[in-house]
Order: sequence, then C-alpha cells, then structure tokens
Amino acid sequence: MNENFEARLQDDIAELKEEGLYNRIRTLESPQGAWVDIEGEEKLNFCSNNYLGLANHHELVEAAQRAVDKYGVGPGAVRTIAGTMELHRELEEKLADFKKVEATLTFQSGFNANLAVIPAITGEDDVIISDELNHASIIDGCRLSRADLEVYEHADMDSLESVLEEVEARHKLIVTDGVFSMDGDIAPLPEIVELAEEHDAVVMVDDAHGEGVLGSHGRGIVDHFDLHGDVDIEVGTFSKAFGTVGGAIAGSETLVEFLRQKGRPFLFSSAVTPPDLAATIRAVEILEENNDLVKMLWNNAEKFQKEMKAAGFDVGGTETPITPVILGEAETASRFSERLFEEGIFAQSIGFPTVPRGEARIRVMISASHGQDDLEFALDKFKKIGLELDIIE
Ligand SMILES: *Cc1c(COP(=O)(O)O)cnc(C)c1O
Repeated sequence: MNENFEARLQDDIAELKEEGLYNRIRTLESPQGAWVDIEGEEKLNFCSNNYLGLANHHELVEAAQRAVDKYGVGPGAVRTIAGTMELHRELEEKLADFKKVEATLTFQSGFNANLAVIPAITGEDDVIISDELNHASIIDGCRLSRADLEVYEHADMDSLESVLEEVEARHKLIVTDGVFSMDGDIAPLPEIVELAEEHDAVVMVDDAHGEGVLGSHGRGIVDHFDLHGDVDIEVGTFSKAFGTVGGAIAGSETLVEFLRQKGRPFLFSSAVTPPDLAATIRAVEILEENNDLVKMLWNNAEKFQKEMKAAGFDVGGTETPITPVILGEAETASRFSERLFEEGIFAQSIGFPTVPRGEARIRVMISASHGQDDLEFALDKFKKIGLELDIIE
C-alpha cells in the first residue's frame, strides 16, 4: 500500500467532512416506494426519483422475472460483439413510438448516453453551447469532446443569443437539461429552438426529469411544448420515472445509426440487462395505456407545493413535482433534514456547491405513490420543524 497516497485520500475525505460536503449514504432494507425501511424503521420517502412508483410496480417486477427466465441475467458483452437481444430492439422501437421520433438507442445509463452522444457528434470544428446549470453528465460529455465549449447563463435567452452570434463553427450544438433537478424549473425550449433555427444550430435536450412527468402520458418536454420534429437529440433515462436503470437517446434514424458506430459507451461497455429491458418495456406500455399515474403525480405535487407555500415556506420557482424547500445556510438545511429523519421522513439536504451558497435546501421529490395521508403527515412535520427552527412563523 502506498502510504502517502492513502494519507492524501484521508485528508481529502476529512476536508469534505469539515465543509459539510460529505455524503452520508443510507442503507434501505426494502424496495423503493412511498415508505422505505431504514435502520429497522419506516420512513416516508421524499428523496427518490421514482416519480410514478414504478420501481417496485408488480407488473414491472413480473416482466423482469419472465425476462430472466427466458433470457437470463446478462447481455454477454457489448452489442456490436455479442449481438443485440430481441428485448433491446423491442424497447427501442416502443420508446421511439412513445417519444414520436424515428429511432432510439439504449445505453447503460443516462450518464452514459451523454458521454456517448456529445463527443461522438462534435469535433474540433464545432462548438458546444451549454446552460450553466446542466447536469454533471453533460459537463463530462463536453469535457470528452474536442469541440470548444461556451457556457450561457441559466435559461437566459439573451445570453444564449449573444454566444450564438459570436461563435463560428461547422456545427453549433446547444445543449440543455429539460427540467433542472435542483430547482424544478423547465428549460425555455421553444425559444431555444427558435434561436437555433435563426443561427443554424443543433438542439439537444436531456429529458431525464421530464420523461414520465411532462407532456401527455409523460412523453416528455418535447411533447409538453409540442415541438415534435424540432429537437435534434433527446437524451433520456430509465432510472427516474420509468423506475429501472438504463438510458437512451432519441432522434433521427441517421443519428441512431451513427451512434451505433461511434458512441464509445455503446461500443465499449456492455448493454442493458434483460430484466431492466423487460421492466422498462412494461413501463413504457403502462404510460402509453393511460395517463393516471402522471395525473396522480401532478395532483400530489400541486397539493404539497400549495400547502407548503401557504405555510410560509420558500419553494423557489419550481414548475414540476421537484420541490426545493429553500432554507438558507447549509447547517440549517442539514439540521432540518436530521429533524425530518427523526420525525419519520427521509429527505436529504443539498448545499453548496450543488446549489449556490445561502440557498441550501431540502429537495422534496413528490411521487404518484404518495397517498393523501402521506402528504398530510409530511406537511405536519415540515410545519412543526419549520416553527422549531424559526424558518416559518
Ligand atoms: C439523473 C440524470 C442523468 C443520469 O441518469 P442515469 O440514468 O441515472 O445515469 C442524466 N442527466 C440528467 C439531467 C439527470 O437528471
């Protein structure tokens, strides 16, 4: 063992702890759901991205079990070598119909989808123009590209326009999150598309928090704004509303054909597993069949946000079920989170650098799986602790 190296890692860990940036990871003894078991106690789950409660939905579980019986548990290797399973094709076709695009391609995760697409489609002659609050996987995808990078101010169309006017390139790629995960605001996609048309730019949106949430039947941000055909590249994940694990890109047949040849995480990392594929296929079918879960999600979010505001909490400018409860200093937010946990609610605090200093928060993730009783229980606890810590009056 290299002792200098070990010592340096330990110093860095100690520093994280001092700065309040050390992640404490809880262990769950139950499936993801409205309530989860942690350390032998039931806690109301306000942290997961399981928007529609599909992570432990019996139909998805059964679909996964049937797939394991028929196809086993592993994909064997990358698809270019070991072949594509029927399930990959089936999911990609279903997803293309659902998203109303020509074609889709699956990846091991949404993170990998961004790492695949951005460096593959851009090179030294191109420029990537990225929203300053984009997800880490977009940032890393940009780092892997040889293209120049320009960052525009968050959702600021004047800032985007001035970058578009300044830069010269073979292609200008505008890339944005669809829904921003820390604030719950939605990217101004119609304006982005309009600017892209004026400046001959390519548009890419990462719809991780929009799929299963926005648009009719949860088709996502493109459907929400009725921009079918106007967005070149959509990135998605199965790990949020769809309840499983995996990622996808959606777009033209040509884009997908290109990425099958050039997307490095597609070429060099093994494919999504049979149970994940089968469960995700069922998730897409459930959404196609009816809009009930999406409606329940929005009803729950509206109720919770309305009552939190009425109680005097600052929930920022959210436009989606993501509910930031902005509390101020990091210590306050982490104290709030600890008190919630003691009172039976699992909701993590988030501080700098994930969000700006002085805007530390509890990010509440509302789900269709929460019942009205669950929301009432949570509202009571938030009010109780809010009074206790002088957040509300
Ligand atoms: C969660 C998220 C991802 C990562 O998705 P995984 O499938 O969990 O890797 C990518 N982009 C955005 C915007 C996300 O919110």
